[in-house]
Amino acid sequence: MTAQASLTRRELLLGSALGGGPSAAGGFEHRGYLGWITDLATEPDTNAAWPSMRLDERLLEDYRHTFALMKRLGFKEAVIWGFYVSRAWPVDISSAVGKERGAMVEKLIGLAHAQGLRVYTGLGVYSWGFEQIIRAHPELSRTNPRAMCASRPEAWEWMRRVIDFVFTRFPVDGASLQSADQGRCECAECRRYGDTEYHVRLDVRVSEYVRSRWRDRTLAVSGWGMRFDNPGDLPHLVELSKHIDYLIDVPDSAARRDPAWRRTLIGALDCRFGTIGGPQVEPPQHWQRDRWFLPTPKHQGEHLASLYADGGRACEFFFHILANPGDEVSFWVAGKALSDPTAGWQHHLESTLDELYRTRKAATADLMNLFVRAEDAYLSLVPAIRSATISLEPLIGDRPGPPVYLAQRLGPEQRRTYRREVETLSAEFRKLGRDVPEKGRMRKILRCLDNVRADLDSLPR
Ligand SMILES: [Zn+2]
Repeated sequence: MTAQASLTRRELLLGSALGGGPSAAGGFEHRGYLGWITDLATEPDTNAAWPSMRLDERLLEDYRHTFALMKRLGFKEAVIWGFYVSRAWPVDISSAVGKERGAMVEKLIGLAHAQGLRVYTGLGVYSWGFEQIIRAHPELSRTNPRAMCASRPEAWEWMRRVIDFVFTRFPVDGASLQSADQGRCECAECRRYGDTEYHVRLDVRVSEYVRSRWRDRTLAVSGWGMRFDNPGDLPHLVELSKHIDYLIDVPDSAARRDPAWRRTLIGALDCRFGTIGGPQVEPPQHWQRDRWFLPTPKHQGEHLASLYADGGRACEFFFHILANPGDEVSFWVAGKALSDPTAGWQHHLESTLDELYRTRKAATADLMNLFVRAEDAYLSLVPAIRSATISLEPLIGDRPGPPVYLAQRLGPEQRRTYRREVETLSAEFRKLGRDVPEKGRMRKILRCLDNVRADLDSLPR
């Protein structure tokens, strides 16, 4: 709490010294920050089933702080899942949000609007949220118990009821649509359409309806489970792009196929295009916040600069936990890189550390070096991560899970390498600590590194 209060004072000082925030010219048009409602919480939800739907005063305080920082760093939009339901809409839909929760969600949205940020709700399209409705009306689903059949006219009636509720219950500025994360219907009728065409048809149906009733809302398609690497799908994607504001290729599948193809695709689309912004540490819902130290400013900065150079202008950067010193720096650098992607991540990392750690020039360079080494110590062992979330613990569960980012992503030899580097980094952070005025954050980094070592030591060597 004290760290937050003093940070706010420094924010004000720095803001006025620079004449206020990052430059408004250029940069990404859609600078989103996306997550489930508790994904940025200072306090873990140690024993809640994922995704936790907790919404209380402590969480609102986290949002107040985050929204103020978002504005300062240059983020423009918050995409939030879990205002209404976690996995299942009730059959009557409106009982999803009680009076008390409704008031809290209204407060949360008000906090964002007070900072000039737009708020989009995550919206499952034919899936993500329809399990209970499908159980009550089994005819809605033909092959996939988690997804309604796109060819059933009654399924559209249910989807429409959900949209009506979503756009009238809270003053949201838009929606980020997801139809593919839970798979699709594979019945004989639906199988006429390839995967991309199938999801595009659903997203267009929803977008046309929303636009016919709420013209000024922003619409995005967040392509979890979708791929954009097949040139044969281009006509479908172009059709989709006429109906939405931006499209998110979550794993950067277009550039993975071929960087030239990503440029071609971006040039052909009528909407903005982007990714989730490089490798993302997925917020571990059940873990104490000092259990990992995995800053990612270099990889995300390089990723965003290259996306921008190809014409990408949208990003839904994943929520990070500001109470963790590595995540905090990743979030700061992301906001700055989205505002000014051509300045170079080094510049953004330097100004971030200068401000958060109140270092003077020499110590800043040393601290930068240590942050980048901490990033490379892990990411150089898993080079396949291009644009994806890194699960620290298993995502789904109702208690703190094992460190799968160490146990499964790394083999024994890599764990030994990582452990040696973590040990060296500990010693160097400790040594540098004498020259860094921000003692609290430096202590926290050391605690994080100790806990990483403890996790490594708990695994087979
Ligand atoms: Zn079907």
